[in-house]
Amino acid sequence: MSENRKVEKIVGVKGMNDILPADAPLWELFENTVQSVLKSYGFQQIRTPIVEPTALFARGLGAVTDIVEKEMYSFTDSMNGDQLTLRPESTAGVVRAALEHNLTYDGPKRLWYAGPMFRHERPQRGRYRQFHQVGAEAIGFSGPDIDAELIMLCQRLWDDLGLQNIRLELNSIGDADERHRHRADLIAYFEKHADILDEDAKRRLHTNPLRILDTKNPAMQEMVNAAPKLLDYLGEESRAHFEGVQKILRHNSIPFTINPRLVRGMDYYNRTVFEWVTDQLGSQGTVCGGGRYDPLVEMFGGKPTPACGFAMGVERLLELMKASGEHFARNQCDVYLVHQGEEAQMQAFVLSERLRDAGLDVVLHCAAATGAGSFKSQMKRADASGAAFAVIIGEDEVAGGNVTVKAMRAEEEMNKQVTVAFDKTVEHIVDQIVGAGEHDHDHDHEHIHYHH
Ligand code: ATP
Ligand code: MG
Repeated sequence: MSENRKVEKIVGVKGMNDILPADAPLWELFENTVQSVLKSYGFQQIRTPIVEPTALFARGLGAVTDIVEKEMYSFTDSMNGDQLTLRPESTAGVVRAALEHNLTYDGPKRLWYAGPMFRHERPQRGRYRQFHQVGAEAIGFSGPDIDAELIMLCQRLWDDLGLQNIRLELNSIGDADERHRHRADLIAYFEKHADILDEDAKRRLHTNPLRILDTKNPAMQEMVNAAPKLLDYLGEESRAHFEGVQKILRHNSIPFTINPRLVRGMDYYNRTVFEWVTDQLGSQGTVCGGGRYDPLVEMFGGKPTPACGFAMGVERLLELMKASGEHFARNQCDVYLVHQGEEAQMQAFVLSERLRDAGLDVVLHCAAATGAGSFKSQMKRADASGAAFAVIIGEDEVAGGNVTVKAMRAEEEMNKQVTVAFDKTVEHIVDQIVGAGEHDHDHDHEHIHYHH
C-alpha cells in the first residue's frame, strides 16, 4: 500500500505568466501583423540571447535607472563565476550584437526583435516580471527622417491591429551639453522646493535629476510641471532635428502632442524621445516608448554611430486588442477523425495524412489502452474541437471501402451525413469547403475567426 501523503503542487513564478492555448490566436495574430509591418519597412529580424553579461546593462542603461537599481534578475554563473543578467530590455543586446558582428560595415541597418524580457517589479495589471517586447533599432542613421519613419511604422501597426485611442507624445531631450546646462538650473530649482521632494527624488537630485521629471508621485506633479524645461535649452542643431521630425509627421498627418516632461527611463537617449500612450489601461498606459540613442554604440566601445529605436509592451497591446470588443478564437482543426477497430485505425492514419497533404488541419482521435472509446464519446471530442467535419470509420465502413463524413456545422438535417468512397474522401471534403463560400475557411490567413 502506498502512503497517503499529499504531494504539493509546484506553481509558476510570481509575475511570470503562462500563455494558454485560448490566447494563442491573439498572440499569433499580433506577431504575424508585427512581422509583416516591419518587413514592409525593410526591417530585418535579429535574435539575441536572453542572458547577457551584467556589465552590458550596467554600462548601457546607466546606474541610476529603475532597471539597474532594482529590477534586474542578476546571478553568478556557478560554473565560472561570470556575472550574468536576464535581459530587462533588448536595445543593449542588439547594439552589442551589431558591434560584435560589425553589422553596419556596409551601411546603416534596420533591425527588429521580439521576445521575453525580465524585470523584478511589483506585479500588477500591465506590469509583469516576465513580459514581452517587440522593438526596432535603426543603427547608423543620423537624420530626423528615421525617427519619423519609426513613429509612422508604429502608427501603421496600430491601424493594422485595429487599435484606436493610442496617442503620440513627443519631446527632444537635446544633447549632452544642453542637458548639462539644463541640469544645473534644474538642481537649483529642485533645491528651492526640497520640502516637496520624495525619497526617490532626493536620492536622484544630484545623480540623475532629469529622472525626477519622470515621477509618478501625484504630490510632486505641480512642482515638477513648473520646472525648467529642457526644450528651452536646445541648441540650433537639436532644434533643427526636432523640427525635422515634426515636419515629416505633420506632412503625413500623424497627430502628436509635445510633452516637455517626457524623458524616458534610460540614460542613453538623446534628442528625439517619444511614447505611445492610451487611457484605456489604467496607470500602465504607455504601450510603446522609443527615441534616439546616439551615444550608446560609443559607450560600448564602437565608433560613433547614431541610432534610434523603440520597444513596445506586447501584453499591454494585447489587452487593448481584447478591450476593442472583438473576440479572437480559432477552431482546433478542420477535420476530426473518429474510428473503431484495428483496421479502421490503420485506415484513419492513412486518411489523416492525405487530408493534411491537401492542406487541412486534422485531429486523429487517439485511443486509450482500452480502445478508442465509444462513437458517442469520440463525437463529443469532435464537436469540442470545432471541426467542420467529422470523418467516421467503423466496421461497416471498413467492410464497404468507404467512410462516413458528418458536416458538424450543417443547418439542414439531410446534408449532415453522407457515405463517401474512401479514395474520394479528400476530394469530397475539399469541395465542400471550397463550396461553402460563407465558411471562414481561409487557408492563406491562418484561419482565425473574428466575431463581434
Ligand atoms: P514604465 O514607466 O511603465 O515602467 P518603462 O519606461 O520601464 O515603462 P520601457 O523600458 O520603455 O518601459 O519599455 C517599453 C515598453 O515595455 C513600456 O512602454 C511598456 O509597454 C512595456 N513594459 C515595460 N515594463 C513592463 C512590465 N514590467 N510588464 C509589462 N510591460 C512592460
Ligand atoms: Mg519601468
